[in-house]
Amino acid sequence: MIAQNFEYTAARTLDEAIAQVAAGAKPLAGGMSLIPMMKLRLAAPEHVVDIGRLKDLNYIREAGGAIHIGAATTHHDVESSALLRGKCPLLAETAAHIGDVQVRNMGTIGGSVAHADPSADYPAAMQALEAKFVLKSSKGERTVSAADFFIDTFATALDMGEIIREVIVPVEPQGVGTSYQKVVQPASGFAIVGVAARVARSGGKIGMVRIGVTGLAGKSYRALEAEKALEGKAGSSAEIQNAAALVAQGVDANADLHASADYRRHLAIVYAARALTAALARSA
Ligand code: FAD
Repeated sequence: MIAQNFEYTAARTLDEAIAQVAAGAKPLAGGMSLIPMMKLRLAAPEHVVDIGRLKDLNYIREAGGAIHIGAATTHHDVESSALLRGKCPLLAETAAHIGDVQVRNMGTIGGSVAHADPSADYPAAMQALEAKFVLKSSKGERTVSAADFFIDTFATALDMGEIIREVIVPVEPQGVGTSYQKVVQPASGFAIVGVAARVARSGGKIGMVRIGVTGLAGKSYRALEAEKALEGKAGSSAEIQNAAALVAQGVDANADLHASADYRRHLAIVYAARALTAALARSA
């Protein structure tokens, strides 16, 4: 299919991009989701503004105890960043699971987060990392947590005229173990279910645990009950299984031709146990 006619502007500066978005233009980053949507006529913007080449949105740097990632940073750059691999390995590991090489070379972290596909990989890690998103418009900037950003399928806290400028993730303290485990939808590479886990021990017990889930429901979420069940435990296999059994509790599970709701719930429990086991094995 061919997209409806549209006007295209390649923004030269971030301010120019913001002005265009304020005037109603749709941001285009890697084009890996927007262009297919336009070709299928599921999206028909009259004007797109290309932000994918803006240097102001392309960086990964450490500041103030956190790692700041420009929204137009590609999945490949996240996956291969020495800074992220060393200090926030969960995000680099998750990026490596996205699609294929071509998708990772073109797709961007801001584009993926803004698109809020319920089967996207990053949102699981964003929930587990308690990531923050810096949103910018012509009126100024605000920072929104991942927990508040993902509202529903393809729906986020982004207001009209706002773009994601930056993603902020923590520098992991020494001893934190992390893992992302995913059931791949073989045709697209998206997650049928994906679970991100972070664990830290304190005095031989589990002191901190965070679990982010994608693919199961209409939006990514943190499995708070499962986290609570593991806190203060030694981390035995039985304790992990008991906690994992809670990740799908009360969740309205998605169903499609790839997996029924019951099968997805089952996968979420199995992959939560795997992610927690792997994260614990990596924790000090
Ligand atoms: P675009 O397609 O350019 O934009 C997507 C949406 O985000 C648009 O609505 C756009 O207006 C908006 N947008 C873009 N940047 C910003 C910004 N900074 N601020 C506000 N809004 C913005 N994803 C996975 O997670 N896992 C997979 O396994 C996977 N497999 C894929 C396989 C294929 C074949 C393809 C084509 C895509 C796949 N994807 C997968 C999706 C991929 O990760 C996309 O890169 C991502 O969803 C969108 O990023 P983008 O930079 O391409 O954004």
